[in-house]
Amino acid sequence: MPPELNAPAQNIDARRLALVARATRNMILILDEAGALEWVNPAFETHTGYRLQDIQGRMPSEFLAGPGTDRESITRIRRHLFCNTEFEMDLLQYTADGRPYWVHTYCTPVGEAQGVKPGFVLVQTVISDRKNGERGLRIAASVFDRSHDAIIISDHKNRIVDVNPSFTRITGYTREEVLGLNPAILSSGRHSTAFYRALWQSIEQHDHWRGEIWNRRKNGEEFAELLSISRVHLESPATYYHVATFSDITVIKNHQLELDRAANYDPLTGLPNRQWIEERLRAARQEADSNKHPLVVGYLDIDGFKLINDQLGKEVGDEALRIIGDRLSNRLGERATIARIGGDEFVLILEGERSETDYRRILSVVSDPITVHKTPIIVTASLGITRYPDDDTDAEGLIRHADHAMYSAKERGRNQFQVFDPGQHEWQRQRRFQLIEIARALEHDEFELHFQPQLRMADSEIFGFEALIRWNHPEKGLVPPGLFLPTVEHSHLEIPLGNWVLRNTLAQMNEWHQAGQEIPVCINISAAHIMDASFIDALADCLHRYPSVNPGKITLEVLESTALEDTKSAGNMLTRCRALGVQVALDDFGTGFSSMTYLRSLPVDLIKIDQSFIRNMLSDANDRAIVESIIFMAQRFQHPVLAEGVETLAHAVALKEMGCGLIQGYSIARPMPATEVLPWLLNWRTTTCHDTEISDLRAPPGHGAGI
Ligand code: C2E
Ligand code: MG
Ligand code: MG
Repeated sequence: MPPELNAPAQNIDARRLALVARATRNMILILDEAGALEWVNPAFETHTGYRLQDIQGRMPSEFLAGPGTDRESITRIRRHLFCNTEFEMDLLQYTADGRPYWVHTYCTPVGEAQGVKPGFVLVQTVISDRKNGERGLRIAASVFDRSHDAIIISDHKNRIVDVNPSFTRITGYTREEVLGLNPAILSSGRHSTAFYRALWQSIEQHDHWRGEIWNRRKNGEEFAELLSISRVHLESPATYYHVATFSDITVIKNHQLELDRAANYDPLTGLPNRQWIEERLRAARQEADSNKHPLVVGYLDIDGFKLINDQLGKEVGDEALRIIGDRLSNRLGERATIARIGGDEFVLILEGERSETDYRRILSVVSDPITVHKTPIIVTASLGITRYPDDDTDAEGLIRHADHAMYSAKERGRNQFQVFDPGQHEWQRQRRFQLIEIARALEHDEFELHFQPQLRMADSEIFGFEALIRWNHPEKGLVPPGLFLPTVEHSHLEIPLGNWVLRNTLAQMNEWHQAGQEIPVCINISAAHIMDASFIDALADCLHRYPSVNPGKITLEVLESTALEDTKSAGNMLTRCRALGVQVALDDFGTGFSSMTYLRSLPVDLIKIDQSFIRNMLSDANDRAIVESIIFMAQRFQHPVLAEGVETLAHAVALKEMGCGLIQGYSIARPMPATEVLPWLLNWRTTTCHDTEISDLRAPPGHGAGI
């Protein structure tokens, strides 16, 4: 403190001046001439936590300095004290409990000139806030300068106020070149105005935007940046700045593109792969919905491609695939997308209405001759087509269905296309489901046999019953065979279910035998079952199991069917059955293509005329003629003949007149549960006079249809 400032003190009393030292918020220390502490004011005690009596006589640096205190400053202080000179400096000191704080120290020597004992007066002002602020600014400045990310600061009119060195490194523009310009100088032109509108909207609403953007360097090269823009508001209203930071992610982007290519494209043809096309199909399906246009999905598979590979080598095969891939993508027009999804399989998405001409064209694009390594080859393909929304399923489903259709096309030979039929597919789905249900029903014993009597009109004798299967479904009740046998046909359940019928019929016959009744029974056996190698053993096994059942009372009814086409093996098989003592009937006779052949060449014991001819024979001359000729032929080959579906007395009478004496139908009785058979028979025998004419027959109540 310059001595002249002390001048007014001469007019003020010393006690009041001492009060100033006590009252001030600055810290005041008085040192003796050796620099040891003599006195501190209360502000010092309060701020540092040291009590005067504890520190009196000590050197301040001993207890005020700490780990962050600049050692050089302490040495300098010592030098000043030694030289008795005034000084001023900033110092980092520590409180009694170790907290650091910055002080500005002003120290002046005092002594004889002022009329006091020699020593020093120190005034310390706490400046931690300023120091920290300064430090923050320094850090910020070094972040700005050293940041690896580019930083642009622009004003509220988006004029560049400052950029950092990384900005120059990334963009190629120097700071001077861009100051005052709009950052739009970097624009690559890749993004739409809508993109920028959304960007500024986000800044207006949230003071922030972050995203990827393509910009252009000074040298014209495009680069990708991950950009973050923040709007920074200052205290004064309506003043703000923009701080944009970005990093160059071009390398990452390119790498990503590489990965994307590897994940989505087929390296051989360069076409998209399965993953990509499924994704595309999902989008195309949505577009088709919103634009109300149809979509065609094709599945194309090269015919006999393995042969090309095997005979001409894999290289030729690969080259052929490349050429075909190229042709498909170049020749099918803009609204077609092609992918290679497997070895020799391609998927096509064709947008809009397409016709068979288009499908043929696709096949011809493939079948145009190819020259591979100077070898001319002709390749054909099979094409499966499905159409959305007719085939209303998801992307995977559409590809799967086109694939199904492709298989059907293949079955028809080379160079064919097939359009998927959703109805047919639904039927197959239901069939699979029903088969599962039927297998379960077999396990739970839900099937049962009903029996329908067969009548010999000559003596009104019931000469047998036909066993007819029913499914006693837990929810649907009694299900007739027409509703489940078609599903079982050609399935893995055909033989197990057939064997169940065989076993259970014999078990029933055995039961009747034990009840004193020998009732002949016709058992329906599917042609595939009877022609199966296991059938004879199954039959023999059943007969063996029920030795009291007379095999001569069993008739196996076989439908005319393609399974019997090989009449030689069919004949052999029937002969082997008959060798076990059973009889054979040809069921539904007249409905197949080769009835007459069967009649001539198969060893059968009974011909059953199909009910479809009987139904209308009284009104339809053709049907009547068929019935007559079947009866005539059967008689020629000396086979007994039975008419099925005889519903009325008039039918029965007519049949008898035509020479058919055996009938079965509702006019006698409907099929009945096994438990009703014996009571029904008893009733029949007691109420029927055996030598009456057919016209006198009365069906027992409940079963007959009114003869
Ligand atoms: P199917 O062997 O020709 O049996 C005669 C069918 O005609 C039976 O139908 C019977 O109920 C019906 N029917 C009998 N009289 C009349 C009549 O006067 N009018 C009419 N409209 N129908 C009559 P169901 O029981 O529905 O059986 C249908 C077909 O299912 C059978 O025709 C047979 O081919 C097959 N089937 C039935 N049970 C079995 C079986 O256990 N195994 C095999 N493989 N097939 C069976
Ligand atoms: Mg039958
Ligand atoms: Mg029949």
